[in-house]
Amino acid sequence: MSIDEKLQKHLTSFEMYLKKAKREFEARIKEELKENASLEDFKLMKTLGTGSFGRVVLCQYKDSVKKLLAMKIMEKVNIIRTKQLVHTISEIRFLDALKFPFVIQMEYFFKNNVYLFLVMPFINGGEMFYHLRSNKKFDENLCKFYTAQVILSFEYIHYLGIVYRDLKPENILIDDEGYLKITDLGFCKKIDNQRTYTLCGTPEYLAPEIILSQGYTFTVDWWSLGILIYEMAAGFPPFFARDHMKLYEKIVAGKFACPPHFSKPLKDLMVNILQVDRSKRYGGLKGGSKDIKSHEWLKGTDFDQIFSRKVKPSFVPVLDNQGDTKFFDSYGETHIREASFNEYEEEFKDMSLK
Ligand code: AMP
Repeated sequence: MSIDEKLQKHLTSFEMYLKKAKREFEARIKEELKENASLEDFKLMKTLGTGSFGRVVLCQYKDSVKKLLAMKIMEKVNIIRTKQLVHTISEIRFLDALKFPFVIQMEYFFKNNVYLFLVMPFINGGEMFYHLRSNKKFDENLCKFYTAQVILSFEYIHYLGIVYRDLKPENILIDDEGYLKITDLGFCKKIDNQRTYTLCGTPEYLAPEIILSQGYTFTVDWWSLGILIYEMAAGFPPFFARDHMKLYEKIVAGKFACPPHFSKPLKDLMVNILQVDRSKRYGGLKGGSKDIKSHEWLKGTDFDQIFSRKVKPSFVPVLDNQGDTKFFDSYGETHIREASFNEYEEEFKDMSLK
């Protein structure tokens, strides 16, 4: 089979997969979210990451020693204080309802008087960010392998009418087989065909239309994919300034230079994705994501084989055991607070997508 025939076959079968996946997602998101565990069911072991939301802790479910999990613990008072109620509920609902090989999923959810608990599989290879900084940059073949997984994930997420809005190496975890899991669904929003206006994301990854408050759709995710590909291959992002205002000026001007080691096809792809003019940006044109998938840089990338995890990656994290946390920073541990009454009970009663 020629490369073009292979891609055509993949596009047809993936479209069928997406149709079925959408039906499953829509059924799941309409259901009431049920709590399916409690804190006593888990043995907490070590903090893996922290953020404004709270912390993510390595843990085990009951006596199941083999299976390690990551528990995101979010304090209700913090969510309310930072006005993140709607974002948090959508994060939880999407974590529960999205089912895709390269997107993290939630296995348990429960609340207590003080916190919300979201429990996911522990992805032990750490963040792509860690590996990118320690290797300086990735070779183009590894970049293609990661890019293919992000493209497939975005095709899936967008097909459901959701925009992701927070792509960056910190939000991509690498599993023990070297495959990706996109995490942090906090900025996901179901927009269907509407424009949205919220300023959110990470400065270096913001699309020009977000900065210019123009109202935007899925094109912002394709822009961020362009930034990610550039950063993976170069080791630094295409637009950079310490001062955010200067950074935003550079992004909206859209002028960037590729390092001399970028291959010609990669340079060409960068020019076509990092297009300030959305009517010219790959991903958002009539051909959609197919324009990226069929671009010369990705010629020879077997999307079906990657989707079914049959390609052996050139990089696999070396782990001493499943619970090895060497790819995570160390954090001080804090105690879990208790309260004699259910804080913010009303606010967290209805967990349906707003
Ligand atoms: P998040 O707010 O979801 O981005 O989580 C904060 C940090 O915790 C991440 O950047 C990871 O370093 C870590 N983390 C989150 N989820 C997991 C997971 N499922 N497995 C391993 N580490 C995780």
